[in-house]
Amino acid sequence: MRKKMSYLQNLHTHSSYCDGMDTPERMLMIAKEKGFQSIGFSGHSYMYYAPSHSMTEAGTKLYEQEIRYLKQRYDGIMDVFYGLEVDIFSDIDLTGYDYLIGSVHYLKIGDKIVGIDRPAQIVHEVIDRYFRGDGLAYAKAFYQTVAQLPEYGNFDIIGHFDLITKHMEKEMLFDTEAKEYRWAAIEAAEALAGKIPYFEVNTGAIARGFRTTPYPQPFLLKELNRLGFGAVISSDCHDARQVDCYFTESEELLKSCGFKAQYVLKKEGFVPIEL
Ligand SMILES: [Zn+2]
Ligand SMILES: [Zn+2]
Repeated sequence: MRKKMSYLQNLHTHSSYCDGMDTPERMLMIAKEKGFQSIGFSGHSYMYYAPSHSMTEAGTKLYEQEIRYLKQRYDGIMDVFYGLEVDIFSDIDLTGYDYLIGSVHYLKIGDKIVGIDRPAQIVHEVIDRYFRGDGLAYAKAFYQTVAQLPEYGNFDIIGHFDLITKHMEKEMLFDTEAKEYRWAAIEAAEALAGKIPYFEVNTGAIARGFRTTPYPQPFLLKELNRLGFGAVISSDCHDARQVDCYFTESEELLKSCGFKAQYVLKKEGFVPIEL
């Protein structure tokens, strides 16, 4: 039986305003049924280079209206937060949100913006085409981009820190055990320490059948703990039924990597909840 968590919240939630399946209100209702005390919405920021995955510019305004409406309507019943998952190259206004997740889904290569949150075959092609088949060089380029997040915005949470490991259980695109790979990830974490306070244990790839474990890998979790980052557990939810996917296990994972608390967002700001 599922152990009851002390406080259930998901801050990484997509809805039908971007590439999620459900309306924000349906997502909220299902989360409520599952015992959540709070939900934060994080629509994909408008990306002129990826209109099919992001909210439109007009949609972003409607999204704001709707989330603000839900905040009021459910006041006292469920805490609702108005957030955004910002892709690093989105050149948009970031003011007015309750919180911001900073994510890298694209790399800037020359004058091109190249998608990397893609099926393994496409990622193979990216590595062959832009990195001469060198998966490690690709991984390094990714982490160098992650390290630049603070130049683009004042983010609260680092989104799926090692997203490039999405296919690692099925496809060897680079060696995640290699020292050089690990150093690239750790260097990015060191560059972000003190600049972005939180990262997420992100279970989205489990819900979607790509993986059996969340992002980031345990070695990186231990480093993030050493560097003083706070952990937030999120399901990067695109389907309301999966809003609590792997949450209990993620708490255990955090504990096993030395964390004493997870963080949740309340009206007064981020607060620790003992694990
Ligand atoms: Zn993302
Ligand atoms: Zn997301």
